[in-house]
Amino acid sequence: MSSLQEQMRTRARELLSQNKVQMVIGWEKGTFWYLSPPVFITDPEDCNRLVWDEFCTNNLAKYLLDYKLGEEKIALFVKGCDSRGINRLLQDNQIQRERVYLIGINCPGVKDGRRAAVLGEARRAEVPLAEKCLYCTHPEPVVYDELLQEDRGAGAREAAATAEGRFAMVEKIEAMTPDERYAFWTGAYDRCLRCYACRNICPACNCRECIFDRAQSGWCGKQMSRSENQFFAITRAMHVAGRCIECGECERVCPEGIPIMALNKKIIKDLNELFGEYEAGLDLEVRPPLGQYNLNDPDEFNR
Ligand code: SF4
Ligand code: SF4
Ligand code: SF4
Repeated sequence: MSSLQEQMRTRARELLSQNKVQMVIGWEKGTFWYLSPPVFITDPEDCNRLVWDEFCTNNLAKYLLDYKLGEEKIALFVKGCDSRGINRLLQDNQIQRERVYLIGINCPGVKDGRRAAVLGEARRAEVPLAEKCLYCTHPEPVVYDELLQEDRGAGAREAAATAEGRFAMVEKIEAMTPDERYAFWTGAYDRCLRCYACRNICPACNCRECIFDRAQSGWCGKQMSRSENQFFAITRAMHVAGRCIECGECERVCPEGIPIMALNKKIIKDLNELFGEYEAGLDLEVRPPLGQYNLNDPDEFNR
């Protein structure tokens, strides 16, 4: 058992026993050795269910939305990407800061659960880092109330060291001809099941009522067709434009392995070039580039 895991259990137990929080959200071991799904603990006696291992992948921030109309105070463990998800929800006025207690973890990077399932438990040590961690620029939490460990592990250094490859996939797609690009994206999104797992897991997808749940809006249908799938993909990408925290959760949960992050990162790259470097979820005081208007904004498309 890792000492960090011991610290997590101890702090969760203390916070619940002293009634400083009424719920703790962390990760537990479920059915599979290669997954550590979220756990929601309200009884101090259950704190031994908490785990910290290389498969604590889920960004826990999104789950706060399930409790946003309640009154309980909730403690949450936050890696770098989880903490940026918290800032996303705070900046979008979805949660109140005083209702959450953030326990930060300096993240050494998490492993790819799908690759782990294929490799098998005997080859656990060979499981690679999750794609999102390869280019992670902020493995340490950007907001927290307490931090459980000071030093980053070797995995985090590895993740940060390769951050320059962040837009490699985007550049590869940009180099394609328009026909090749169309074939690439239709090949990907023709497989889309419209299961909405990418939307449901995303901390930036936090509208009270999503346009894709409003069949009567007239904007979109339920049909799985090329045009409807593309409308879904583009609409969701534009709704998270400038707000996406690059947690990679949408792509991780997609059952069809659609390269959703390539779309998100294309928009991030374009926004950086048009409006200056910006990373979402880092600073509450800096509004997302598409969340503000400046008379000097580039408007070449209007000429
Ligand atoms: S994206 Fe960064 S903070 Fe998130 S799990 Fe990977 S290394 Fe950790
Ligand atoms: S669009 Fe994907 S990477 Fe961006 S915040 Fe949502 S889940 Fe995370
Ligand atoms: S998770 Fe994948 S299959 Fe499901 S709606 Fe999103 S892109 Fe489509």
